[in-house]
Parts: sequence; structure tokens; C-alpha cells
Amino acid sequence: MPFVDELAAALPSGAVVTDPDVLEGYRHDRTSWLTPGHPVAAAFPTSTAEVAAAVRIAGAHGVGIVPRGAGSSLCGGSQAVDGALTLSLERMDRILDIDGANQAVTVEPGVMNADISAATSPHGLFYPPDPASKAYCSIGGNIATNAGGLCCVKYGVTRDYVQRLEVVLADGSVIETGHDTIKGVAGLDLTGLFVGSEGTLGIVTRIRLRLRPAPSGTSTMVAFFPTLGTAGDAVAAITASGLQLSLMEIMDRATVVVVDDHARMGLDRDAAALLLIQSDSPEPLRRVEVERAAALCDEAGASYTAFTDDPEESEALLQARRLAGPALEELGEPIWDDVGVPRSRIPELLGAIEKAADRHGARVFTFGHAGDGNMHPTLLVPRGDDDARAAALRAFDDILVAALELGGTITGEHGVGSIKAPFLEREVGAGNLAVQRAIKRTLDPAGILNPGRWL
Ligand SMILES: Cc1cc2nc3c(=O)[nH]c(=O)nc-3n(C[C@H](O)[C@H](O)[C@H](O)COP(=O)(O)OP(=O)(O)OC[C@H]3O[C@@H](n4cnc5c(N)ncnc54)[C@H](O)[C@@H]3O)c2cc1C
Repeated sequence: MPFVDELAAALPSGAVVTDPDVLEGYRHDRTSWLTPGHPVAAAFPTSTAEVAAAVRIAGAHGVGIVPRGAGSSLCGGSQAVDGALTLSLERMDRILDIDGANQAVTVEPGVMNADISAATSPHGLFYPPDPASKAYCSIGGNIATNAGGLCCVKYGVTRDYVQRLEVVLADGSVIETGHDTIKGVAGLDLTGLFVGSEGTLGIVTRIRLRLRPAPSGTSTMVAFFPTLGTAGDAVAAITASGLQLSLMEIMDRATVVVVDDHARMGLDRDAAALLLIQSDSPEPLRRVEVERAAALCDEAGASYTAFTDDPEESEALLQARRLAGPALEELGEPIWDDVGVPRSRIPELLGAIEKAADRHGARVFTFGHAGDGNMHPTLLVPRGDDDARAAALRAFDDILVAALELGGTITGEHGVGSIKAPFLEREVGAGNLAVQRAIKRTLDPAGILNPGRWL
């Protein structure tokens, strides 16, 4: 029987789609400058058994599988591949259990990140990793990319919260990894192996996550700086101070201006950089922490600082940062980069980014997670301008090299996907990459899971 017919017969009615108009919506992710392939079909399973059946049938026919969450990848990780099956987890979107006594939640992979904290907040609990895309990215995608976010500076990344996974392997078998306990060291850490494996080693179908007690409130501070250097100095001073801030984000002037154009927030458009800082410590500590951070910003040369304890004003300030992506997408084709450096080297990275853009005549907008050294220099290209895109991609590569030369990484949170494979060996070394490939061959000998990506 042909592949699609066999798949459709095995899954419930409506779970396999070949309508080209529907498939078009599942070809792309948010890496808009790459051209995706054409999938043979899209499948929408609603259970682990259905995922396993789809994987077994695809394997038997030698058809590749692209696991897909909400399609917000910025590294081409969930784009369709020619002739492969796009396997969307969007219909597996149930919150299965909130275990208040053990501060944990069990969810299916299609649940949106933001919905987890919304569901657990009545229990006084929250799920900390909060990508700027939290309203439109799934927890399955977060696991697969080991997503970070705005409050990683205090709380860490997705990996730090994954207790247990259920995974469908490339042969259609199902395994469980991890523990319900806080401690547990029996055997190799397979949970850690699947987190960040970008859909290349298995398909995550169920997740148990650790939660934290929800903070009682926040104090938020904004500071504007006359130069990028003074903003970098403030970040270095705050980091060295040991303050336990829950968020420290930076936006350069170019980004501030596009966000202000987009949302009319009355931001200081003449400042070279804006720092957003938040503390969610218990009162009165959070106010003290933010005031201390403001004093350090003033000492570094800030032109203006202000803080608020008002939740709505705080949220509006954070919104300025979250709108950076959508505001840029409105203006053209953004080529998002995502590099990390040791925090003390942020000022050097900011300088290297500006030089790389100037060298290639590209427009760059830099914003990111200053608290953990993870920056998103984003090159903006007029839609359809191939020459500008080629120049921007040369600057993109130079920025990756600059991050490596500063002792950093080619990706802090978005992943390698389709776009950074040529730089991976340079970062991890040939021996390390050979081990990664050996793991891939062991778990997926026919190479059907997310074919053609970095492994
Ligand atoms: C405006 C904007 C802001 C963003 N901000 C951040 C940020 O602050 N921090 C951050 O980390 N990321 C950020 N991202 C990137 C993106 O949202 C994350 O990478 C997110 O984790 C992807 O989730 P998704 O559900 O959209 O996954 P998708 O894009 O659908 O997939 C991402 C990868 O995960 C794999 N995958 C998906 N589901 C599964 C599964 N169940 N099992 C196995 N593999 C799977 C896919 O094959 C693919 O390789 C941002 C994106 C945008 C557009």
C-alpha cells in the first residue's frame, strides 16, 4: 500500500492531510529567509500510540519525519523537508496532571508554554522558562530546543525543569526517561540527551516538569544609556554585584526605535541602549535589589533610570522587549541570530556585531538576554532583495565567528537546525561531533527523524 494510504488507514479520520492549501501552512517556520521543502503529508496524532504508529509506518516506507510543535523555530528546525511527513503535535495539547504536593505538572507536547503557568498559578506555582514567544511556542518545541527566555538569568533553562519524558523512538518503540523524584541518578541521563536534540533522536509525547512557587510580585526597572559601552559596563557591574535579578534584557537604539514605531510606547529614541531589569524576590528585598541595580546603572553612566512595582506598568515594559521580534517582522525579512558569550565579554560582542554589519553594509538590530550573555543580533533585509540577503548572511556568519572567538557559542537557545551546521564542529570539536553522530546512528540508523538537519 502507498505510504499515505497506509498512514491514513492506521490513524483516525482527519488525522492525515494532503490538501496542498493546508500543507502550505505547515511548510514554514519563523525562519522566513529559508525556502522550505514540500511535505508528502501532515499527520495530526492525538495519542502516543498514534505517534508510534505513524513513525513505524514512515520507517517501513523510508519516509523522513519532521516533528513539529507550534512552528516558531528560528533556525529552520521545523520547516518541511521534501517528501517527508510533517508530524504535528498540536492536537496533543492536554495538561494531564498538576501535582501540587510535589510541585510538578504533566503535559502533552502541544501545550503552549504560557498556558502552563496560567494553569498552575491557582496552585501558587509557575513554570519559569519563558521564551519571548511563550504565547505561541509549544512545550514539546521548548524541550526539543532546550529553550531559554527572559528569566533564565535567575531560573535557568528548559533542561533545568524536565523531570521525566515519554519518547517515541525512530523504530516506533516508546521509552520513558527520568524520575518523579527530585534526586535520581540511576543510569545515564537520557532525559538530558533528548532535551535540545531538536527532533533528531525521538519524538517527545509526554513531559513531567518541575514547578517553582510563584513569586508574589515584581519590581521592574528601565535604564537608558548614551552608548552601548556604558550599557555593557552596567551589565558587567550588576553581574559582579551578585544581585539575584530575575531578568536583565538589553535593546540597542535601532531596536528601541522600531518597537516605539510599532507600539508608540514613548521610549527614549535617542538613547544608544535600553536595559530592562526585574526582581521577583519577596518584598521588601525586590525593591532593594532593583534600587541597587539602578544605582549601578547610574554609576556606569545611565542617562535615565526609573522603576515601578505596578504589575501593569511592569508588563508594559516587558512588552517592549517581547515586541522586538514582531516589530521587525513588520518591516522586512528578519534574519535572527542567537549567540552567547561569557557575560564579561558582552561589550566586545556588541562592538563585533556593529563591525560585522558595517563590513557588509547590513542593517542590524541587537537585543537579548544581557543577564546570561545571550544576544539576538537581527539583520533586516527588504523582502525579495537577494543582494541584501546575501550581504546580511555574510554578516550573520561573521557574528558567529566573533562569538566563538570571544569564547562563546553559536546558539544560546534557538538551536542549530538547518542554518548553523557548518559552524558546529568549530564550536564543539571533531571528536565531540563524532560522538553525537554515533548516538544519532544508534537511535535512528535510517536517519528518518528530522532528516537533513545538523546531525
Ligand atoms: C518572536 C520570537 C521570539 C522568540 N523568543 C525566543 C526566546 O526568548 N527563547 C527561545 O529559546 N526561543 C525563542 N524563540 C524561538 C522558538 O519560539 C523556540 O525555539 C521554541 O522552543 C520553538 O517551539 P515550537 O513549539 O514553535 O517548536 P517548532 O518550531 O515547531 O519546532 C522546533 C524544533 O523542535 C522539534 N520538535 C517540536 N516538537 C517536538 C516534539 N514533541 N518532539 C521532538 N521534537 C520536537 C522540531 O522538529 C524542531 O526541530 C522565539 C521565536 C520567535 C518567533
